[in-house]
Amino acid sequence: MRHLLSARDLDHAAAVHVLDTAEAMAATQARTLKKLPTLRGRTVVNLFFEDSTRTRISFEAAAKRLSADVINFSAKGSSVSKGESLKDTAQTLQAMGVDGVVIRHQASGAPYRLAHSGWIDVPVLNAGDGTHQHPTQALLDAFTLRRHLHAAGAAGSVPAPEGSDLGGASVVIVGDVLHSRVARSNVELLTTLGARVTLVAPPTLLPVGMEAWPCTVRHDLDEAIAVDRPDAIMMLRVQRERMSFAGGGFFPSPPEYHRRYGLDGARLRALPEHAIVMHPGPMNRGLEISAEAADSPRSTIVEQVANGVSVRMAVLYLLLAGDQNEGTGL
Ligand code: ASP
Repeated sequence: MRHLLSARDLDHAAAVHVLDTAEAMAATQARTLKKLPTLRGRTVVNLFFEDSTRTRISFEAAAKRLSADVINFSAKGSSVSKGESLKDTAQTLQAMGVDGVVIRHQASGAPYRLAHSGWIDVPVLNAGDGTHQHPTQALLDAFTLRRHLHAAGAAGSVPAPEGSDLGGASVVIVGDVLHSRVARSNVELLTTLGARVTLVAPPTLLPVGMEAWPCTVRHDLDEAIAVDRPDAIMMLRVQRERMSFAGGGFFPSPPEYHRRYGLDGARLRALPEHAIVMHPGPMNRGLEISAEAADSPRSTIVEQVANGVSVRMAVLYLLLAGDQNEGTGL
């Protein structure tokens, strides 16, 4: 595999290989000296056309811990705001001799264009495109979930999953599925890894054509908690910037949304005892998730951020160092 554009790029073996490599990376991050020489002399560009906090910093930390040089590009303050096209930007980067491009773009499909246009001839990593895909988020979520399932299995709270995947775990993903690249990538990756996924949302926040997705769809969160008995509940951000006006007509009001689809204290207590609470960030506290749930001991939200660095180190290593180290590539 040359690029990572979609969670669909990873079959079961490749996904497990990334997670196992990320575990090896995580082990190195417990040391005082966190830097590995693996990508010394290589240059990675973070090409961010859309705002980001966690993902950009995480990719930067990951590349630096592998000793790559990192160039951060954000559309604001660059010639993109003067109207420069993706093609010209890509050709500029190629001319400067970069070895890998991490791209976030507001247009779904932009990373595919970059990877397959011939404008640039290096691995492309999708860091989130429009409402389409966010594969490294799904990988870090799967990594976090796998760790917790194995810990719960070892503690005897659930039957230990066999093998190195998610072994039939139940995951409930709740909220603004319509605008969520995180939901799309997670449905694909988590099911590839053997999990059962249920999406919960109001009908207005579900995309058309969902019948083809390998998951169950419900509109009632309390029913999902009672019936699906999730090992993990993943709350999605209500993406108000992708709605034409606040609320966008997608739901009656923020309090109403919170009442029907928010993770509050009562729902938190209704979850199975070992279940974890996930959110990709940034959170709308009080809307899709209460402070009580976000800050509870079962919340893995901060841990997901830490795991993101190990997972991105793994992906950068597998895609960029693959040609040097035979057999490590995807
Ligand atoms: N940070 C995630 C993303 O970029 C989730 C979100 O923004 O709601 O897709």
